[in-house]
Amino acid sequence: MAKQEVKTIEELMKISERIRNIGIIAHIDHGKSTMTDSLLAGAGLLSERVAGEARKTDFLEEEQKRGITIQATAVTMVHEYEGDLYLINLIDTPGHVDYGGEVTRAMRAVDGAIVVVDAVEGVMPQTETVLRQAMRERVKPILYINKVDRLINELKFPPDKIKERIIKIIMEVNKLIQKYAPKEFKDKWILRPETGQVGFGSAIHKWALSIPIMQSTGITFKDIYDAYSVQDDEEKKKRIEELSKKVPLYKVVLDMVIKHLPSPKEAQKYRIPRLWRGDLNSDVGKSLLNCDPNGPTVFVVTKVIHDPQAGEIAFGRVFSGILREKSELYVLGTDRKERVQRVFIVVIKDRYPLNEIPAGNTGAIIGIRELKAGDTLASVPTEPFEEIKHLFEPVLTKAFEPEDPKDLTRLMTVLTQLAREDNTLRVEINPETGEYLVTGLGPMHLEWIETKISKYIGIPVKTSNPIVKYRETVTKKSEVKQGRSPNKHNDFFIYVEPLDDCIYEKIRSGEIPEGYYRKPDERIVKIFEECGLDRETAKRVKAVFNGNVFIDATRGIVHIGEVIEMCVNAFKEMTKGGPLAKEPMAKVKVVMVDAKLHEDSIHRGPAQVIPAVRHAIREAFLDAAPILLEPVQTVRIDIPSEYLGDVLKLIQGRRGQVLNVDVDEEMGNTIVIAKVPVAEALDFLPALRSATMGKGVLSLIDVTFERLPPELQEKVIREIRQRKGLDPDAAYV
Ligand code: GDP
Repeated sequence: MAKQEVKTIEELMKISERIRNIGIIAHIDHGKSTMTDSLLAGAGLLSERVAGEARKTDFLEEEQKRGITIQATAVTMVHEYEGDLYLINLIDTPGHVDYGGEVTRAMRAVDGAIVVVDAVEGVMPQTETVLRQAMRERVKPILYINKVDRLINELKFPPDKIKERIIKIIMEVNKLIQKYAPKEFKDKWILRPETGQVGFGSAIHKWALSIPIMQSTGITFKDIYDAYSVQDDEEKKKRIEELSKKVPLYKVVLDMVIKHLPSPKEAQKYRIPRLWRGDLNSDVGKSLLNCDPNGPTVFVVTKVIHDPQAGEIAFGRVFSGILREKSELYVLGTDRKERVQRVFIVVIKDRYPLNEIPAGNTGAIIGIRELKAGDTLASVPTEPFEEIKHLFEPVLTKAFEPEDPKDLTRLMTVLTQLAREDNTLRVEINPETGEYLVTGLGPMHLEWIETKISKYIGIPVKTSNPIVKYRETVTKKSEVKQGRSPNKHNDFFIYVEPLDDCIYEKIRSGEIPEGYYRKPDERIVKIFEECGLDRETAKRVKAVFNGNVFIDATRGIVHIGEVIEMCVNAFKEMTKGGPLAKEPMAKVKVVMVDAKLHEDSIHRGPAQVIPAVRHAIREAFLDAAPILLEPVQTVRIDIPSEYLGDVLKLIQGRRGQVLNVDVDEEMGNTIVIAKVPVAEALDFLPALRSATMGKGVLSLIDVTFERLPPELQEKVIREIRQRKGLDPDAAYV
């Protein structure tokens, strides 16, 4: 019996139409965990029956005893919808303040997301960030509005106000979808509540509704209101329980998932061209597009867990072919080829070792070392998936030091591990002082890392010397400048100018990938054209690094093909540290218009070409009115309205700019959206806490680079040059 049942899951894994890979995304405390528990409990019985007892894994039992909740990383469950069984793979996204890094990675594995919004709090900054990340990975959203019970119990909303509140939230979420959805989905993905793309209910009381379900069951807002308004506690409990039997949350929500979120086969058709840059007409390309189990194996790692017993466990998704136990896979981008030892999935809470996982499913592997989120494993050497990019760049560095020197090695191990798990965190050792330098998204992110290490991991640390990361850019078009090689036999002619916003934004969002473009890629050429480059120029883009573009506009130079890679290398080096203060260059378009090359390749090697091209870029850069850009955080501050005056003062005292103030009379809360330069925001969090008696909540919405005010330019450039041991007077010369 049991054996037969296990087969059901293995059979379902082969039918792409019957699979949904989904994530739940939410602002902290809006009910993601409660909802997950409720879905697992609801779908659990069927799933466990179908999985059977026989295959429950016995390895790593130890870990279960220790209560590590590894199962939450990717859980498979079975759900019945209109008479058919479906497999739902639910990938966990972090519930703690995480600044989004992990959310992005989880998004790679899923095709659809349930966005959970608290009916009382409404759309919050993290709702926006996670939704934006989902859209960027082409993950389709549906909406579940949670805690509707609070609207009645706490806010005493009558039925029509409940309805109004729900409509308001749907409209806000739709606004975000409009704003962030990929162009071709802006209309398609708008939530239409009448079709059942929006659910609302109470995760804690385990019921949910949607418009079609209200119509088919006859349950109205008034019925809900009445159930919660019953005076007698026993009776009220009974009425709510009845509701959870009539319209159980797990059923309503999982039905929505199956009806409105795409199968892997459907989703990979439009997701692959965005996530993978290889040739779509190649064998691998076609197999990825079609989610074909018969093609080459391609597995993308989305999370790595370090387990003392099993070693590294890598969770991820099979996009093509079949992931088999004992198969040998290339770790793309390295020269490694290694053997997978074990393959398993987690059904509800138990691991099930399998011989194979076909395309379109999620699963985990053991046996390949040193993987990190974002790595691609494949049975053939091919292009890796796009690097998993975070929305924001790290902009603030602090030195970390253990309070007890004995912890030095341990601290380094922990930091390295954290950096591997969070790609917005960089860890380096300062070669001169031996300090551990940790770079993150800003003061709040680093404070969170500090707390994590001190409190949760148990290594007391102190931090010091915050250093803000600036960028260098240009503000006008330069003259064409010449760069001559040391042997004087080669010349390069280059000008620079500010890069168009459209192109810069598309690089930032990952739509235009970074790297060296060996030959024009039609998909990318099209994007450049959409941003206004003419087709000829778009085909001549040779490289994109750090948000800068290099274009080879030379014509008829016979040997250019042989030196272009060297030119690109020179450009890449320059983008890492510009002429002003050796801070990275950003938003610069570098155009090579002409070159004179020596006939003989011996006289035009890297030692000749690279310094010449660097010189030309440098000269052009200095001629193009260069300036420093500083990182600026856009933050949302939630406060009780009485603190508004103090908070505005706090912002204005820090070169901040208030973008919006939204007073919610009903709740007595105010939401302030403001921009504050990172350099001025170092003590913003403690200052806010003391100004609001700890009641202010600060969340990060965006990090951008903006022009440092003219009066600070020279001062800051000097300071950076001094710190880096460069001649403070030599900038601009
Ligand atoms: P997460 O941070 O999104 O995972 O949120 P949790 O699931 O941990 O929920 C945060 C808090 O909200 C917990 O105290 C839950 O008990 C509570 N909560 C979750 N869902 C509901 C709900 O439907 N109604 C009410 N009243 N409270 C809820």
